[in-house]
This record gives sequence, structure tokens and C-alpha cells, in this order.
Amino acid sequence: MIPQTQPLVPKQAWQIALSNAINDPETLLSQLGLKDKLEAIDGEILKQFPLRVPQTYANKMRYGDVNDPLLRQVFPLSDEGKIDTDFVSDPVGDKLAITSPGLLQKYHGRALLLTTGACAIHCRYCFRRHFPYGDSNPLASQWQQTMTTLKQDTSIKEIILSGGDPLSLSDTKLEGLITELGTISHIKRLRIHSRLPVVLPGRVTQSLLETLMNSRFQIVMVIHANHANELVDDVIPALKALTDINVQLLNQSVLLKDINDTVVDLINLSERLSELNVMPYYLHLLDPVQGAGHFDVAESIGISLIQQVRKQLSGYLVPRLVREQQGQASKTIIC
Ligand code: SF4
Repeated sequence: MIPQTQPLVPKQAWQIALSNAINDPETLLSQLGLKDKLEAIDGEILKQFPLRVPQTYANKMRYGDVNDPLLRQVFPLSDEGKIDTDFVSDPVGDKLAITSPGLLQKYHGRALLLTTGACAIHCRYCFRRHFPYGDSNPLASQWQQTMTTLKQDTSIKEIILSGGDPLSLSDTKLEGLITELGTISHIKRLRIHSRLPVVLPGRVTQSLLETLMNSRFQIVMVIHANHANELVDDVIPALKALTDINVQLLNQSVLLKDINDTVVDLINLSERLSELNVMPYYLHLLDPVQGAGHFDVAESIGISLIQQVRKQLSGYLVPRLVREQQGQASKTIIC
């Protein structure tokens, strides 16, 4: 997406880890001692949205546990093949919100850039799992058009880097992008939506930290963790490094059946986030995306869970239960 040609540079350790991510369900099962205990979906669905798990994330899964909450987020179960007409390919109306190549404008004062279609991990419930990134990336030839849109719309105060995962871009590309956005004076804040600090914490490199520190923007990073078991080991120093340079960290999670749909799970997640100086921000009800129906938790159950969590935690540790609805001026706060 960055217009200039970049010189070839050796891969960093996190990029090598990304290239070595596990992409075969049998390999993952065999590492966990679960051969023949789970059945993966096959065929087109897996081809279009393959398994993808960095080894560092797989290392946090419990050996021999078919119900491990990390495994369940990434393992392509045969349930994905079930047809449910309420579950669609573009559940939140992303395609209708595109105003320029790679630019989505849904809410006042903010614009979201789809910087890449790549992610370090493939979350099976992802609302963009069917998104046609190839048609929507602001390619080099269209980048100026997107920049012109951003320059002309002085109501935009905040840019959200999304994807895919914007931190899967190289440091050079990311720095070029942030520098160019920095030339637009009416943009005050940069929000980065990324799951990489959680699933591949080695991505938080010194050069990334320097890029963020050198930017004139106020920087907010919205990480994505669904379960306290994700927030251990190498994730701890990565998040600390970000808070040490005054990046404000928020977390968004998705309420997922059999993964985090208990009061205990939600409390543990909020407590853990608090220990790591991350504010629990949103708990999303599942976006009804095709192939993810088996993760769905009813809204009434979500409300009841949050009400119980609220009785046990300080208010600022209780995430807002939200749903994204196409055409609304903001996310709908359910509870
Ligand atoms: S990291 Fe985010 S964008 Fe990528 S698959 Fe997971 S939920 Fe989707």
C-alpha cells in the first residue's frame, strides 16, 4: 500500500516465525497429543481460510485438552460447513462503507484503513474471513486517491489502521504509512487494531517502538485477547514495552461459545488485562459471519454474564457488551 519501492531487507525474527506458522490441522493436533480427537473441515472452506497459528501461540495451548480455549479459537471444525442463512459473508456491511480504495468510513470523525489482508493467526470467528481484500487494498496506484480523500475530509480526526492485521506489515512499510498520514494536520489520533502483540509478541520490536515513539500522533492500540490464557509468558514484556512508551492499550474480545462464555472466564480476562495495564474495552457479540455459527452466544446470555461480572468487578474493568449493526452511527451498546 505504500507507494515507494522498498529495498530488500533481511527478515526479522518475527517475520520468520510468521513464515513458519502452523498451517496443517494434523500437525497442530499431533503437537497437542490430540490426533484423531478432533476432525477438521476439509475442501474449499479450508482452502479459502486456512488454519494459521504461530508456534508461540500454539505453545500456550494445553496438551491433551480438546476443549482448550486457544485451540478452539483457531481450529477449523467441521461445524464451519453448516449452512445458516442468518450467517452471511459481510455481516457488518464493510463493503458498503468503502469510500476510497482500502478506506472504510462508518462513523463520524473516524476512518479505517485496510492496510493488508494478512494476519498472523486465523481466528475462525473472524467477521472479515470472507472479505475480498484483493479488491479493496489501496494499491500503490490508488494510494494517492485514498490520501486525497483523507486530506479533503477535515472531519476525520482519527485514523484506524486495521486489516487483516496492520502489524503484519514490515517496519519499513508501517513507518512510511504513519509518516505519510502524519502530514495530514487534521488527523490527531492513530488507532492500531492488532492481535499480534498477543499472538506473536516478538512483533513488538525496538524498531516498531521507535516508529510509534517518533510519530506526532496520540497512539491508541486496541489489542484482541479473548481469554486470560492468552496473556502469559512473552506477551507480558511486549505489552509492557508498549505501555512504557505511553501507547494507550485497550482490549476488545468476542463472546465465544465454549471459549469465554462464563462469568469466571470473563472475570479472569479482565483481571489479567488490568495486571498488564490494558483496559477491557469491548466485548463483542459475534458478528453473524458464514461459517462461525457454532461460536454464537445469545444476546440474553451475554447480558446476564455482564450483569454478573459487574457485581464482582470495579466498573472500569467491565467491558461494554456491544454489537455492530450495519448503517448505525456507532456500535450498539447492549449492556
Ligand atoms: S487477527 Fe483479527 S482480522 Fe485477523 S483473523 Fe483474527 S479477528 Fe480476523
